[in-house]
Amino acid sequence: MNALSVKAIDFIRQPKQMLINGRWESAASGKLFPVTNPATGETIAHAAEGDKADVDKAVKAARAALESKVWAAMTPSDRGKLVWRIGDLILKYADELAELEALDNGKPVTVARSADVALAADIFHYMAGWATKLHGLTIPISISGGNFHSYTRLEPVGVVGQIIPWNFPLLMAAWKLAPALTTGCTVVLKVAEETPLSALRLGEIMLEAGLPDGVVNIITGFGETAGAALAAHPMVDKIAFTGSTDVGRLIVNAAAGNLKKVTLELGGKSPNIVLKDADLDVAIPGAANAIFFNHGQCCVAGSRLYVDHDIFDEVAEGVADIAKKIVLGSGLDPQTQMGPLVSDIQLNRVCGFLDSGFQEGAKALSGGKKREGAGYFVEPTVLVDTTPQMKVVREEIFGPVVVAMPFKDVDEKIIQQANDSIYGLAAGVWTRDVGKAHKIAHQLKAGTVWVNCYNVFDAALPFGGYKQSGWGREMGAAVLTHYTESKAITINIG
Ligand code: ADP
Repeated sequence: MNALSVKAIDFIRQPKQMLINGRWESAASGKLFPVTNPATGETIAHAAEGDKADVDKAVKAARAALESKVWAAMTPSDRGKLVWRIGDLILKYADELAELEALDNGKPVTVARSADVALAADIFHYMAGWATKLHGLTIPISISGGNFHSYTRLEPVGVVGQIIPWNFPLLMAAWKLAPALTTGCTVVLKVAEETPLSALRLGEIMLEAGLPDGVVNIITGFGETAGAALAAHPMVDKIAFTGSTDVGRLIVNAAAGNLKKVTLELGGKSPNIVLKDADLDVAIPGAANAIFFNHGQCCVAGSRLYVDHDIFDEVAEGVADIAKKIVLGSGLDPQTQMGPLVSDIQLNRVCGFLDSGFQEGAKALSGGKKREGAGYFVEPTVLVDTTPQMKVVREEIFGPVVVAMPFKDVDEKIIQQANDSIYGLAAGVWTRDVGKAHKIAHQLKAGTVWVNCYNVFDAALPFGGYKQSGWGREMGAAVLTHYTESKAITINIG
């Protein structure tokens, strides 16, 4: 395993405090919780266990900052420059951020650097440009008997609570914070208890960029206490959540008290369809990447692989061959291609799914079990001989496990099967036939469809789910509507 850099060691040495009103603070209760390295199971740091009292303090700070001259009266141009500067500083500290991410989440440091950190900087740079372009409309109206001038203004929705998961800790923070800051909102961000480190470092970076006190507050703590308090807080105007569909439902209930606005980015069980005419040199590694990227801990993971009957064996075995060669190890080792799952809870969850699959008759072409020894490792797994009603086919596993299934009738049945899910986040199609590609893409009930590629994300593209995969969209221009209120103003000009 590679040694940690001095900067990263320095960062984790002191108990991590929360960012409230521009200052670093311990929990009111004084409690701390351990932060674990999933590659070894060892405690690497301690973080403040924030709860209701800390959330309340952070929300009040965010409310005061929302009204403060320094934030509310900042020109769009200055706000845009500030958001851009945060993107620049993320790149300046990219290596350190990637190391913290690898240590805390377990993902390979090379992936953290090229994907998580790079995309986090991108969303700030992309959003910065919108700060000066959030304009309303002049609208002619048809009321008789008057002469009216009507226009709309886009105003910040207010104090936003943001709750994020552990699979892309820095990137999820960036996807949430960048549009909120661009639109002039203020934020209380509750990071996942499994992975608090990189978002806290981002907090330092935002202060270095010149963010006024209280505009972003960062709470570490548990979902049932700190997260629930934020979702229910009466002074929060909007809640933006990324995580499991079950917790998404709790958020909706908690938000009902003051009817705060809600956006949700939830689970998935994404179909990935390989047609007979696909270029298999691209489709086979593509299907492997679709499921094994980030150890399958992606809400978009291509976890249901549908392959034309005639090429099924070649594709399923091809993906299994890739799986068998994937190098498992600590995220800090540059040779590692797949790290551990994030926690023992996730390890047990994924192994439980594997057991249920085998009990119901599935077979593994590769993997199928945890790796013995320290850390929370699961072997990359390709399951075959499944049936549509099996748990492993219907439920989100959130680990490196794909179910591969043959199909015969491309025109109707495969679309029905692909859409036969409570989820609708993403889907993939592999074909050389451009007509079929468009036709299938239009029929799939998913917020993102990738053709001859997978896991392609860009700050300019809206991202979100159909059905129980969520409400609203992240990124692109689409996200801005969720962080602004449109006000219609009508003036009688006589
Ligand atoms: P996962 O199952 O992937 O861990 P969760 O949906 O449980 O995802 O967690 C995502 C985020 O939601 C985390 O920050 C977690 O602390 C938070 N969370 C969990 N339970 C609740 C809750 N009842 N209310 C608010 N937030 C919660």
